[in-house]
Amino acid sequence: MPLKANAVESPSLCPLAIPRFVCDEMLKGLGEWLRVAGYDTRMAISGSEDRRVLAMAVEEDRWLITCDRELLCHRRGPEYTILLESDNLKDQIRELTWRLNLDWLFAPFSRCKRCNTLLEKGALPYSNEQPDPGRAMMRHCPNCRQSFWQGSHVRRMRGRLQAFNQSRRC
Ligand SMILES: [Zn+2]
Repeated sequence: MPLKANAVESPSLCPLAIPRFVCDEMLKGLGEWLRVAGYDTRMAISGSEDRRVLAMAVEEDRWLITCDRELLCHRRGPEYTILLESDNLKDQIRELTWRLNLDWLFAPFSRCKRCNTLLEKGALPYSNEQPDPGRAMMRHCPNCRQSFWQGSHVRRMRGRLQAFNQSRRC
């Protein structure tokens, strides 16, 4: 069971615990960045009832990240919900980083941004894609069969993850 985020003054996870998340449907951008950083993050399906999303968080031991204060009114809501005040991605990232002391360089580019599956090294099996020696490394998602190349966009994204870490408390 996760520690209670909203029940203590300055919440922080046990440093040994790797947090897992479910983002409400308004926070898809944040959820994608959590996946890029390597965190197991589910997205609530559009139109899901609050109590169902909360039940998923409880069942799967995930933090439910939301901007919807009403979730705190549900039983077990305060225990599992991280309520963000900000309505823009940059501030949401800063807020979450501060609250959980989140490390955005936990396991970057290890998880599919699109579907949350752990990526595998190398080219997609049974495809015509050939590893290009000019490009450093390739990974693929065994679930949605998307390929990811190491390239300048990855360097840019890594730079952003590093910048997110500037809001950490230590
Ligand atoms: Zn995928």
